[in-house]
Amino acid sequence: MKISEVGEFGLIEIIKNMANRKLSGGIGDDCAVIDMGKEEELLVTTDTLVEGVHFLKNTDAFNLGRKSLAVSISDIAAMAALPKWAFLSISLSDMKLEYVKAFMKGFYFLADEFGIDLLGGDTTKSSVFSITVTLIGVNEKGKSVKRSGAKVKDSVYVTGKIGCSYAGLEAIRKNIDGYEECKERHNNPYPRLKESFSVKNYASAMIDVSDGLLQDCLHICECSGVAIEIDFDKIPFCDADFVDKENMISGGEDYELVFCAPVKYDGVLNSIDNVTKIGEVKEGFGVSVIKNSKQLNIKRLGFKHF
Ligand code: ADP
Ligand code: MG
Repeated sequence: MKISEVGEFGLIEIIKNMANRKLSGGIGDDCAVIDMGKEEELLVTTDTLVEGVHFLKNTDAFNLGRKSLAVSISDIAAMAALPKWAFLSISLSDMKLEYVKAFMKGFYFLADEFGIDLLGGDTTKSSVFSITVTLIGVNEKGKSVKRSGAKVKDSVYVTGKIGCSYAGLEAIRKNIDGYEECKERHNNPYPRLKESFSVKNYASAMIDVSDGLLQDCLHICECSGVAIEIDFDKIPFCDADFVDKENMISGGEDYELVFCAPVKYDGVLNSIDNVTKIGEVKEGFGVSVIKNSKQLNIKRLGFKHF
């Protein structure tokens, strides 16, 4: 059997189920949660970016360095925790030193902005540039927001705009002028840590939108044992009329946050900047999108390796 027959998430499930000791707080959320005793918990996430898969050869080095860390900060934000310490592993060919220095300038730029220290890593030779960032964060014990806490009747919210990164990538690929905000969002996703802290006391479940809005809502459904119904007209789409909106909700790399919260918090959550209610948690399983009282037939939920 080939990996594509089980898919990326099927493979992760197989890896998880092969463990001899069953754990909680491990594989399956944006970060692993490690119990550190009475007061604190540690959050750990690791992400890899590979040339030819996640970025093109000769991508602007500063942006790439910044984005490599941003995607991991986004995972810590998805748990409403504080990022603190990073490890950076790079595999690279005998490329220009200037490129790697510019990459590190971008990495350190964002690290400084978020108060993150680089504590170690690994450097190896390889034919394609590959970057793995491991990021450790901290949280008050029990305060990390998991994917598994959504309850039936909760409201579903999203931060920022959806589809910007997809539109930005399309504009870059097709050499379309303008759409600078979208291009910037694709090249320089800015982790929603501030928003995450604004909502952490209300959210029952949260995830960052890395694979696509619908795919990531489905992860909440799977972990919480619920269904999510999204109102298409309430989605805060990015303003890019040359892109099909259905592709925007399945396009990856928005690095916005999707979260659920009890309906009693609607008032306070609706008053927070950059936060939009898009749907409701229902009984059942899976994600549905409603437009003009009809359920949309969505062919692709989001990005998957394999
Ligand atoms: P995210 O998009 O938030 O980075 P992923 O979809 O990459 O999350 O991974 C989902 C979960 O599976 C995470 O908890 C991650 O740590 C875990 N995971 C992914 N690949 C592996 C692997 N090869 N071995 C163990 N755990 C993995
Ligand atoms: Mg994530």
